[in-house]
Amino acid sequence: MARKPNIIVIMADDLGYGDLGCDGGTIIRTPHLDRMAAEGTRFSDFYASANLCTPSRAGLMTGRYPVRMNLAHEVIQSPEDRGLPLSELTIPKALKPLGYATALIGKWHLGHRGPYWPPNVHGFDTFKGLPYSHDMQPLAYFEKDGESGLTESPVYFPKLTETFFHETAAFAERHRDQPFFVLLALTAPHVPLIRNDNATWDSPAGAYGDVVEEVDRNVGALLSRLKALGLDENTLVIFTSDNGPWFEGSSGPFRDRKGGAGFDGGYRVPFILRQPGTVPAGVVTDAIASNLDLLPTFVAMAGGTLPADLELDGADIGDVILRGAPSPHEQILLFDNTKVAAIRTPDWKFVTRVHSRGWHLNLGRFNYPLLFDIRRDPGENYSVASLHPDVVTDLKARHKAARDKYETMVDLFPPWVRPSIADWHPD
Ligand code: MG
Repeated sequence: MARKPNIIVIMADDLGYGDLGCDGGTIIRTPHLDRMAAEGTRFSDFYASANLCTPSRAGLMTGRYPVRMNLAHEVIQSPEDRGLPLSELTIPKALKPLGYATALIGKWHLGHRGPYWPPNVHGFDTFKGLPYSHDMQPLAYFEKDGESGLTESPVYFPKLTETFFHETAAFAERHRDQPFFVLLALTAPHVPLIRNDNATWDSPAGAYGDVVEEVDRNVGALLSRLKALGLDENTLVIFTSDNGPWFEGSSGPFRDRKGGAGFDGGYRVPFILRQPGTVPAGVVTDAIASNLDLLPTFVAMAGGTLPADLELDGADIGDVILRGAPSPHEQILLFDNTKVAAIRTPDWKFVTRVHSRGWHLNLGRFNYPLLFDIRRDPGENYSVASLHPDVVTDLKARHKAARDKYETMVDLFPPWVRPSIADWHPD
């Protein structure tokens, strides 16, 4: 049997679909990521499991919609004590019994108080990074390796990206003789946009472009390092983002951005995979998939099986990646906090919740659901509901079923106690 693949997931923070050259970007220079896509497979219709940081990460880590675990609502702010329940099976917890060394390098944002903290309690042997976004306070750089104690040191912002990549390469080198999994959760290009002081940066997209170009250079250096270590063909490297772009960045041809409601711009993210000799080169697939699929896919690639009673929302997309099979999904749900805001099927996009002038609007209430021919109209500009009443009827029923199933899960948790804005941003 082939050796279990090493897996490195590079997840940018708030990077837009349209920021990369390989996904149609024309301003920011991303030659290494473009080459990674050319040497591997790129998904054009890949979704984050939420349009915000915390819920998207909860989905990625567990293969389950974050509404199942009280993490669908907004991001965890520093006064909060929510976190990823210890009862959840995470990717590192699933891979460890299969012989994997596991690391989280970078940003966590799934609970920074006990019992959810540090991330090592969720199956990571090694954690080096930040408890949450680097615009939040108080902030420190934490490290815990194996049985060592949790240490804390000041954050030096200009070197965060470089440090995270350096630590990833070092972890790969240390564990070159056994399979390993690294979630390299970058802080870039989330605000604040702080350039590395090791070089002159001159992106035509300004500071945002500079930090993306630094990520790109580091991806190139990491791939070279893996090759030098003889790990190139054994290591599946993935590049993606946790949600759409925020204040800057491009959501490409898609409507809306991070935190928007049901439109694709908040959710549709780059997804590039490279493993020479295993992942087909130069392939672009339009199969629908999401970061909920990573857990079941990785476990299958590692030769493991999942507990029979585990209710997953993601699916194994190994056959899509390795053999060009069609998507296993009939639909992907997009949540706006705890509400089912949209449904994506292979051909259609059904949107029921939008934001307008500060309001979260439920279009279902006005009997005005929007149906888009997403292949022809990726910008979701023209509803074709009047042309396809049968499709609307079908998707309305699916939407109701999804709401009945998932939105009621919120009742399993205590009511929200939302910290005041003044607590979040003292100034
Ligand atoms: Mg984010």
